[in-house]
Parts: sequence; C-alpha cells; structure tokens
Amino acid sequence: MISLIDLKRQYQNISQEILDSVKEVFESGQYILGTKVAEFEKKCAEYLNVNHAIGVGNGTDALVIALESVGIGKGDEVITTPFTFFATAEAIVRVGARPVFVDIDPLSYNIDPDKIEEKITERTKAIIPVHIFGHVCDMKKIVQIAKKYNLYIIEDACQAFGAEFEGKKAGTIGDVGCFSFFPTKNLGGFGDGGLIVTDSDEIASKARMLRQHGSKKKYFNEMIGFNSRLDEVQAAILLVKLKYIDSWNRRRIEIAQKFSQELKLDGLVTPKKCNSFEFGHIYHLYILQHEKRENLMEYLAQKGIATGIYYPVPLHLTKALSFLGYKEGDFEIAEKLCKKSFAIPMFPELTDEEIEYITTSINQFGGSLQ
Ligand SMILES: *Cc1c(COP(=O)(O)O)cnc(C)c1O
Repeated sequence: MISLIDLKRQYQNISQEILDSVKEVFESGQYILGTKVAEFEKKCAEYLNVNHAIGVGNGTDALVIALESVGIGKGDEVITTPFTFFATAEAIVRVGARPVFVDIDPLSYNIDPDKIEEKITERTKAIIPVHIFGHVCDMKKIVQIAKKYNLYIIEDACQAFGAEFEGKKAGTIGDVGCFSFFPTKNLGGFGDGGLIVTDSDEIASKARMLRQHGSKKKYFNEMIGFNSRLDEVQAAILLVKLKYIDSWNRRRIEIAQKFSQELKLDGLVTPKKCNSFEFGHIYHLYILQHEKRENLMEYLAQKGIATGIYYPVPLHLTKALSFLGYKEGDFEIAEKLCKKSFAIPMFPELTDEEIEYITTSINQFGGSLQ
C-alpha cells in the first residue's frame, strides 16, 4: 500500500540526527522553553527573514494568539475562505469574532481576492488568507485591499512552510503569519507544535506573553493568556528538519510536475500553479478533481494506492458553524470542489517507481470498478 504520507521513511533517513538532538534535551533537564525552542525560533526567523518567531503549542493556537495579539475580539469580523481546515474559522470564533466567508478562485483554490471587497463592513478588522495545499495566495491583491481598508492580514501558512511570493516567504507578507508543525505538515514534528511570525515588536511582545499565561516575568501576569508553548522536544526535532525543508519542498515540486505531466485520464483536473515563483506552490498536498471521484478512489484503493478528501465539507456548511446562517449554494466553487477533489500520495520520499505506478494506475481507470 502506498500511503498518502509515510512519515516513517523520513524518520529513517535522519533518525540519528533526530535522536542526538532529542537526547540533548533529555540530558539537559530543561524541558519547557529551553535552548532548543530559542534556537529554533532564531533559525526560523532567519530562514523566513522576519524579525520575530514565537513557538506555540500548535497551529490552531498560533491563529488564536495571533488574532488576540492584534486585538481582534467580540464584535469584529474576519474575512476568510470556506475551503480550509476547520481551525482557521474555529480560531476566529474562539476569540469572539465572526468569520465572514468569501468563495475561492476555481484555479488556485485560494480565497478569490476579487470577491473580498464586497464583504467588507465597518466591523471587518482582518483577512485570514490560507495558502491552501502550499499554494501561496495572490498576496499582492490582498495586501492592496488590506491597505485600502486598514485591515490586518493574518496569514494561515500552516500548509506552506518555505513557500514564497515575490521574494518573501509565506507567513511574512501580512502582519502576522501562523504555522503548524502537526506531523503531516510539510515541516512536521513528532507531535503538536506551531509558530507565530511577525515583524512588529508590539505584536510579538503580546504573542510571547499570551503563550505563557499573559506574563513576561513568571508570576507577574499582565493579562489572561494561554498555556501554549512549543515543546522543547519538538523544537529539537524541528531544528534538524528545518535544515532539509528546501530540499524536501523541491522534491515535492518535482513529484507534482511528474504527476501533472504524466496524468492523462479524461476529465481529470490537475492542480494549477497560479504564480511564477519557484516555491509559489510547495504541494503540501497534491489534489485532483474528477466527476467519478468515489469510483476512482475505490479503484485506487484496490490498486494499493491511498487517497483522501481535503475537505469533504466546506466550512460554511459544517454543523459547528451553522449559527453563522450560511446555506448550500452560498459558495458554489468551494462546494463543488469539496464534492470532486481528492488527494493522492505526496511526500518527498515517494520513489520514482511509486510515482509511475500511481500515474499509470490512474491513467488506466476505466470509469467504473473493474
Ligand atoms: C493544520 C492546519 C491548522 C491547524 O494546525 P494544528 O497544528 O493542527 O492546530 C490550521 N490551518 C490550516 C490551514 C491547517 O492546515
């Protein structure tokens, strides 16, 4: 069986380095916010070319803390996409604000910048563009809109570590960027982890306080915060993995190019890269569309090829967000994509033989189950 992502292969390639790094933590006796987290934050800030990087417990907390750090709360509206992982909207609701959805662009699958302005009201405080599947949003247009209406941009870059737009790394184009190190993300730990990045001293200082019970100095709490710190052990692992991120992203791009060149099945829609930057799409996931998705997925399962659906339900139709009052038909492009798209295996360690097996299997699909 070729799985969607095989994390064990990556570990096998770098196991000694990981074990050495983790051992240093175990032997240090310093398990919360020690030298590994500090070093990882510094290395991330350098790599991303941003002033501040703050390790937090996970990507969801990164979003919640980022929103609070720029002062978003009750009564505020935040514009985002309905085609994302639930956490994007969950974080907005968690701080007391209201998610306002804007449909996606049918080619990029990212929020359609041309539909943002019509959703802006006097309560709108921020836009959360999500670089879905590692494909960077059209940040030029989004930055223009944010400037015109004086809105914050909080980038959900949870699927896009190392992706770029016009020479800047995803997550560093807006006011704040949020990353997740969930194991299956393109930069993933061996557990939960997250990161907030910003050039603003003020936002950084607030985020640093919020992750630690609202305190700069222990027991001198200045505000109500969270207990949400990047774990020292995860930082030790991520420090090793950070060295490989460019080569892994490059391999993802190479695999995606092979897939897109070789896949020829009638009616199959392959991902479209909507910018010209080398790392403008780092293919956190490789997403296809087909009218007979269910049949094709079952056929591939019989061939020993795993598939998955990202995402089966657009956020405006989830039960949890039904209180927002959206209905079916409100965001037709996102809804259609949820019905037709599916992911095939994508991870840097996929072999050329596996890539070929996957493409020939898909190309041989006869339309129904054989
Ligand atoms: C994974 C993910 C998150 C949440 O990250 P966690 O670390 O799982 O909390 C948020 N947004 C997007 C787009 C994600 O893919």
